Amino acid sequence: MNLVDDSWNCKVCGALNAAYRTTCGRCEENKLKDMKKRQYRSRQGRSDSQYETSAKVLGFAALMLFGALFVTAIIELVETIW
Ligand SMILES: [Zn+2]
Repeated sequence: MNLVDDSWNCKVCGALNAAYRTTCGRCEENKLKDMKKRQYRSRQGRSDSQYETSAKVLGFAALMLFGALFVTAIIELVETIW
């Protein structure tokens, strides 16, 4: 029985594990679970960045609106004083 040919490297810590192992001998990371988790993580990362971008745009728009209101309020205040 040759275990070397079917051995696999852990994607988390890089440790070489025997073929019969389903979890990493060093960090206990699951071989199959890790692959799924990575796909899930990249999908999550994409939606996160999309959300982040729209949040930034909304934040910028809100900042511009508040800025405009603030400037208008200052101008009105100045005109009232002078
Ligand atoms: Zn590992």
